[in-house]
Amino acid sequence: MPETPHDNPETPPVTPHVGQSLGRRLVLTTLVFCVLFILLSATVRTFSAWNSNQEDMTNELQLIDQVFRGTLSKAIWEMDRDALHTQLDSVSQVAIVGLVELHILKPGRDPEVFQRARPDIPTSSGKAPTLQRVLTYTPYPGGEETVGELRLVGNESLLWRQLISDVTGIVFTQVLQSLLLAGLIMWTFNRSVTVHVRHIANHLSQLSPLNLHRALQLQRSGRHQDELSLLERGVNGLQDKLSGYLERQHMAEQNLAAHRDRLAELVEERTTELRAANELLRELNRRDPLTGIANRRHFDEVKDIELRRAQRRDQALSVLMCDVDHFKLYNDNYGHSAGDQCLQQIAQLLTQVFCRAGDLVARLGGEEFAVLLPGLNAEQAQHATQRLHRLLEQQQITHAYSPVAPYVTLSIGVAQLGAVPDDFEALLQRADAALYRAKHQGRNRTIHT
Ligand code: GH3
Ligand code: MG
Ligand code: MG
Repeated sequence: MPETPHDNPETPPVTPHVGQSLGRRLVLTTLVFCVLFILLSATVRTFSAWNSNQEDMTNELQLIDQVFRGTLSKAIWEMDRDALHTQLDSVSQVAIVGLVELHILKPGRDPEVFQRARPDIPTSSGKAPTLQRVLTYTPYPGGEETVGELRLVGNESLLWRQLISDVTGIVFTQVLQSLLLAGLIMWTFNRSVTVHVRHIANHLSQLSPLNLHRALQLQRSGRHQDELSLLERGVNGLQDKLSGYLERQHMAEQNLAAHRDRLAELVEERTTELRAANELLRELNRRDPLTGIANRRHFDEVKDIELRRAQRRDQALSVLMCDVDHFKLYNDNYGHSAGDQCLQQIAQLLTQVFCRAGDLVARLGGEEFAVLLPGLNAEQAQHATQRLHRLLEQQQITHAYSPVAPYVTLSIGVAQLGAVPDDFEALLQRADAALYRAKHQGRNRTIHT
């Protein structure tokens, strides 16, 4: 794995604030829903229970009516007051009955009213069912007589008590059911979602380029294939891609660094080569192509340096101007190529003779050579030129057409740096003048100024 200096340190595990828990929010939402549902459901069920209780009460009142109607009618017909009261008391004792009212019809008179009300019912709002029946008696077959009217009013207090009991039961059941449902949802959600979401959050918070290979693994059975599995696969896929990307980036950086190093090496190599080529070029620029010795440019570069050095150190400095005698004749008779070879031989001889450190032999052009001899006085220069003439003679480069000698000879003019401050051009002119005299005095000699 690539290591980068800005890798994240391990982040502490994520612990969400309790109020921010998804499970709690889900439970709160469920509870709010349950409360609303309880209110609605309790209202509907209360209304239904009230109607049902009223219906039951009506049925029971009808039953009571059926049970007591005959005996009451008979007691009225027979004017049996005791039986009548007993019957009415019995009816009023029945729990569902709140009020019993009996109207005994008497022809030509106001009806006589008997009433039995339940003492425990202070007021009645008229919500209880009421049953009103005409009482008839048939003393002989076919002779039905209307004897009174019976009015049964239900026990409203009982209705309310039943309603309260029903509502309490409904609300209690609903609340218990809601709480159990909320608890179940929270437990299930916490177990199957919250725990894993926190695990994923912790895993992600601790991720860094160093541990991208650490796969996310949810702590649950592998048979689950749901959204969390998708998320798990997604996170691991992303890590793999990220890891691969970082790997490639690292490789690319390494390649780049290698290329950079190689490039630097190449630049260094090329620079060295260029420097060498430049040096060679400068060297070639300062060399005479035919003889390989210094040319006039090099001679001009060095002459002033040597002049100043000699003046500064108060040392001697001799300059020789050499010219091949009758070289035109040599060329004309032996050919230009032979002339070139001759010039090369003379140059070689000059470098053999003047080989001290600081000596400089240069070809000024054509068949003229100049020699710079730092530290050599006139006498030493004289000895050197004599040696040169001698060696040239020994070389015996045939020049059958020279009027001076049967071999190639040199005329030399020598000049020394004098006590009077001199510039080099003046020194050369003096050497040149000495050369001129050497030519005129018969050639193959050295003349000093
Ligand atoms: P002197 O003794 O008076 O110097 O006579 P000279 O013939 O040497 O002098 P001159 O100046 O008349 O002739 C110089 C000749 O040198 C002319 C030319 O053909 C020859 N020469 C000049 N440069 C070269 C060269 O590079 N190669 C060859 N082969 N000959 C050259
Ligand atoms: Mg010449
Ligand atoms: Mg010449």
